[in-house]
Amino acid sequence: MSTILKVEDIHVAYGRIKIIPGLSFELREGEVLGVIGPNGAGKTTLMNALIGLVIPTQGKIIFDGVDITKMSPEKRCHLGLGRTYQIPRPFEGMTVFENVLVGASYGAGRTEAKARPYCIEAIKKVGLYEKKDILAGQLTLLDRKRLEIARALGTNPKILLLDEVAAGLTEAEVQDVQDLVADLKTTGITIMWIEHVIKTMVESTDKLMCLSTGSLLRYGDPLETMNCAEVQEVYLGVDEE
Ligand code: ATP
Repeated sequence: MSTILKVEDIHVAYGRIKIIPGLSFELREGEVLGVIGPNGAGKTTLMNALIGLVIPTQGKIIFDGVDITKMSPEKRCHLGLGRTYQIPRPFEGMTVFENVLVGASYGAGRTEAKARPYCIEAIKKVGLYEKKDILAGQLTLLDRKRLEIARALGTNPKILLLDEVAAGLTEAEVQDVQDLVADLKTTGITIMWIEHVIKTMVESTDKLMCLSTGSLLRYGDPLETMNCAEVQEVYLGVDEE
């Protein structure tokens, strides 16, 4: 498996507040990389840096051989970086299909006609095909999460970045999301998944990394990452969501 994403010593700050003081890691094609860490560890900030919502003050992000460190979010999306948001905010008055179409056309820079097949494929992959004509505002939370994933998949990404898609779901629903991610993995897509549910992270990822105050505490085999003393320590007293 070749490296699809290389993060080289990135430093990320909001104004004067330094959040990530130098972080390096690699993501291999077809892998699921889990990202854990206590609240405020910088997981979403890392996601924002990858997607282009915040530009690192130092370091490089290389995606598929291209230096994207300073590239706009739109261009990154066109190149194949797709993300979900922690709190799904679909266009409630639009159907499932229309919601996916927005990302697949405007987001990914395609005409609607060219985007349509990607939308159908994405909606099928997440199991919402039967509900494609339902208004997003009528969906259950689990289906909203499915829609959120479909909106990202509709852009036909090479890497899918998932930000706490399991948050707020019941145990059985979390298992549904886990099964969905396992299905997606079989299609060859590369996934980086931020999540607080440790059991899910250990069961669903090929590699697991733990951040603490913006730094890499541990990166490697999921169980070994979870069982290492430093990771156990930062998680003491931290509730799983
Ligand atoms: P959680 O698990 O709670 O989602 P996280 O690991 O994703 O946390 P971030 O959301 O990346 O952490 O936040 C890292 C730090 O950056 C926190 O101290 C947070 O308060 C701060 N932060 C986040 N966004 C901003 C912002 N726009 N401006 C200033 N500080 C911010």
